[in-house]
Amino acid sequence: MAAETQMKVSDQVAVEINKMNKWFGAFHVLRDIDLTVYQGERIVIAGPSGSGKSTLIRCINALEEHQKGSISVDGTVLSNDIKNIDRIRSEVGMVFQHFNLFPHLTILENCTLAPIWVRKTPKKEAEDIAMHFLEKVKIPEQADKYPGQLSGGQQQRVAIARSLCMRPRIMLFDEPTSALDPEMISEVLDTMIELAEEGMTMLCVTHEMGFARKVANRVIFMDQGQIVEQNEPEEFFNNPQSERTKLFLSQIL
Ligand code: ADP
Ligand code: MG
Repeated sequence: MAAETQMKVSDQVAVEINKMNKWFGAFHVLRDIDLTVYQGERIVIAGPSGSGKSTLIRCINALEEHQKGSISVDGTVLSNDIKNIDRIRSEVGMVFQHFNLFPHLTILENCTLAPIWVRKTPKKEAEDIAMHFLEKVKIPEQADKYPGQLSGGQQQRVAIARSLCMRPRIMLFDEPTSALDPEMISEVLDTMIELAEEGMTMLCVTHEMGFARKVANRVIFMDQGQIVEQNEPEEFFNNPQSERTKLFLSQIL
C-alpha cells in the first residue's frame, strides 16, 4: 500500500514472549507461546474460535496471569507485582469486542477517567487530550452524550480514543468489529488503519482478512493454544503451510 513506507518496523522489541504457558484449572489453554513483537509491527492474530487468541492478548496486558515462561513489555517483565501491572496497563491499550464503555459517564468522561485517576493528569488537560483524540476518531461532537446514545461504530471509536488518551505504546484489539453491523465496520477499520500508518504497534485479533492484507506486516495463526504458523500476509493467504491453516482459510475466505 502507499502508506507502507510510513509503516516502519523498528529493531526495538515491544513485546517478548518466551515459552509462555497458561492453564485455566486443568485446561492447558496456551502452549509454549514464543513471540517477539517489534515496535511498529502490525500483527493480525487469526484462528478458530476457542484457539486462545483472546487469552493470549489478555496475558500481554496482564488481564490474565500466565503460569510458565515469560512475557515482557517494553523490557518490563510481567509479574504479579501490582505496581508493574499498573505500568503495563497504561502502556498497553486494549479495545474489546463489546466496547466496555461506562454507560453512566459521558463520552468525554469515559475518555478522561483513567488519565485523571491513574495518570493524575489535571482535569482541563485531560479534557483537551480527550477532545484531541475524539477529533482524531471523528466524533468530537458526541463528547457530551452517553454511550447508549451512540451507534456501535461510534462507541467503538470512542473506545479507541479512550485508550489513546493514556498514550499507550502498544494497542491490542480483540475482534473490535465483530459486534458491529456491517455498515459500521469500515469506520472502525479506517480508524485502525490510520493508527497503523502513524506507526502504532498493534496486535489485532480479527476476522477481517482485507484489513490483514492491507495493514498487517505479519499474520499469526493459532489453533488449540499454539502458534501454528506465521507469515507476511501475501504468503500466509496464498501459500499456507499447515493443513490446519489451509482448512481455516478455506472456511473463512
Ligand atoms: P479465542 O479468543 O481464540 O476464541 P479464548 O482465548 O477466548 O479463545 O479461549 C480459549 C479457550 O479457553 C476456550 O476453550 C475457552 O472456552 C477457554 N477459556 C477462556 N476463558 C476462560 C476462563 N476464564 N476460564 C476457563 N476457560 C476459559
Ligand atoms: Mg476471542
